[in-house]
Amino acid sequence: MKFEDEITSVKGIGEKTQKGLAKLEIFTVQDLIEHYPRDYDVYGDIRAIQSLREEETSVIEVSVVALPQKKKVRNLTIVQCRAGDATGTILLTWFNMPFVMKQLKMGSRYLLRGKAVRKNGLLQMEQPVFLTKENYHNNRYVMQPIYGLTFGITNHVIKKAVVQAIKNIEFPKDYLPVKLRKECNLIEYKSAVSKIHFPKNTQEMLEARRRIVFDEFFLFNLALNYLKKQKGMKKSVFHMKPAKECENMIERLPYDLTNAQRKVWKAIEQDLCSSQQMNRLVQGDVGSGKTVVAALALLQAAMNGYQGCLMVPTEVLAKQHLESLEEMLSPYGIQVGLLAGSMTAKEKRLMYEKIKNQEVHIVVGTHALIQEKAEYANLGLVVTDEQHRFGVKQREALSNKGKEPHILVMSATPIPRTLALILYGDLDVSTIDELPANRLPIKNCVVNTSYRPKAYEFIAKEIASGRQAYVICPMVEESENMEAENVIDYTEKLAHELPPAYVVAYLHGKMKAKEKNEIMERFANGDIHVLVSTTVIEVGVNVPNATVMMIENAERFGLAQLHQLRGRVGRGVCQSYCIFINGSNSKESQKRLEVLNHSNDGFHIANEDLKLRGPGDMFGIRQSGMLEFKLADIYKDAEILMLANEVAKRFEDAQVKLMLKKYEALRKKMELYTNEIFL
Ligand code: ADP
Ligand code: MG
Repeated sequence: MKFEDEITSVKGIGEKTQKGLAKLEIFTVQDLIEHYPRDYDVYGDIRAIQSLREEETSVIEVSVVALPQKKKVRNLTIVQCRAGDATGTILLTWFNMPFVMKQLKMGSRYLLRGKAVRKNGLLQMEQPVFLTKENYHNNRYVMQPIYGLTFGITNHVIKKAVVQAIKNIEFPKDYLPVKLRKECNLIEYKSAVSKIHFPKNTQEMLEARRRIVFDEFFLFNLALNYLKKQKGMKKSVFHMKPAKECENMIERLPYDLTNAQRKVWKAIEQDLCSSQQMNRLVQGDVGSGKTVVAALALLQAAMNGYQGCLMVPTEVLAKQHLESLEEMLSPYGIQVGLLAGSMTAKEKRLMYEKIKNQEVHIVVGTHALIQEKAEYANLGLVVTDEQHRFGVKQREALSNKGKEPHILVMSATPIPRTLALILYGDLDVSTIDELPANRLPIKNCVVNTSYRPKAYEFIAKEIASGRQAYVICPMVEESENMEAENVIDYTEKLAHELPPAYVVAYLHGKMKAKEKNEIMERFANGDIHVLVSTTVIEVGVNVPNATVMMIENAERFGLAQLHQLRGRVGRGVCQSYCIFINGSNSKESQKRLEVLNHSNDGFHIANEDLKLRGPGDMFGIRQSGMLEFKLADIYKDAEILMLANEVAKRFEDAQVKLMLKKYEALRKKMELYTNEIFL
């Protein structure tokens, strides 16, 4: 069996499983091998009920002390049963598993494994799994992989397939020479693959992880080195001259640009007027004012007779950018067009037509739409917002008569300078390292759930004085569909808590784009006072009149994500507030949240996050717009990143070419990580 073979060549995988795996983007044997565990599970010893701790998953051995009860709540079937051991009793709860009723017999003993949670002050165990004695004893101290799953694909299915694949795959000779591996303390690739899935202990897992992370960074760095050489030589076909309209626009703004904004704009202006193609990344913390800088660049392109486009990750954001660009650019006779998924086929066709005829100068839209079908008359500048890389692959998808536009990438993810220089080795990086002067620092507080009524009171007070609020809804893990239900429930409850005149509305990922847009528009207009939302509003949304951000279950988010969410407020002249509700009692989450409580600075938070996520935390929290690494975490693995960068420099072009010829898979990865195409 080979890496590139279809997944069905693995024993036991038929068409049905193939379909399920496709949803996890697993198509080939290699994809399967690289579907790394997202965590590991160890059964551990049997615990006494008395010693169970909240939020911990443990094995208990109990007998049923009262007959199980079944009830229906909404569309949920709940089975509950009281069971005990020598130290005490505990309530067991199962959702939508009515058949456990029959399984539970008075007086019988069971080995159960589940998470202890506190509800109404009492410790309970939810969704415990029945273990056989044999299964438990065989696996007690083994690290079991836990995989990311999808509907119809169980952990067991993936585990079995991985075992088969590892057994039957033909591993080619390791592409890293033995000497280099020794020097860098890296184990063989083949061994790393089997150990990352089935480590005997933490030590083995760490060794495996180190090798795989190294590979990811190393290939990425090889790719960057190559790109840098290429880009350094690229002449621009879109020459521009400074446009006086840009100066005029700056003067007309209702505020003064910060020095940092001016500096970054000057760098961009110079790029656009030079003889080389621009490839620039603009970094700036949330609220630092990146949009206006992008608008200036787009204006300059338009005044020079070229088209420009602005790509964003969500339709909500596209709508919002459309409005602010129209406001800033229309005085100069510039037509701004929108391409969004919720537009009708006819509307889209019309817009494509206008883009082709250059009746529209600036196009705003989501990535897919701008890239796929639009044919530009004369596209000279591509700006991407809230994204990290924009590569050849994406540029090729733009139909621009083979002419490569200038590229400007805007990102709010704070990355320390040393890392940025490596990660964006092929780009010029500028930073907006200053917030507008009129901003009052956001006031933060971290509280527990008992503070809720006070928080609602506070929100009501802010609304009474004309402001608006966001509430990020508690997270549900049970299923995706519950997400919507959860948001709707919460909204209803909240509406009861607030004076009836206040309009509370909700937003979640399952809503149609059109509905989302409507809600956002009404919120932006002030017709909605409180917006209850999932994290769909995480990036970019700008409603300066909103002054309160209340985040339920804040302990479940990554710090960077919380910082992004908080960045939705504090965007205007009024004092803003962020209320982090900590739904757990753990000291650790309190400590993490304290970081946010004491700082509004994205760079500082990223660094602290790094320190707090110790070596026990193997898998980084996926950050929106992050690079496409599967295991590597640029913060936590900074040391390996620097090592890989140093090693990659030693490889000559000819050597790299030879390597890619021999190992097709490496080329594919380089393309994936950088979005570029390698010959
Ligand atoms: P981000 O960098 O997060 O994308 P935005 O570009 O959305 O930030 O800007 C946030 C808010 O700050 C907007 O309402 C914008 O009009 C305003 N803003 C931008 N620059 C300045 C400035 N120099 N002074 C005051 N307000 C500004
Ligand atoms: Mg933005």
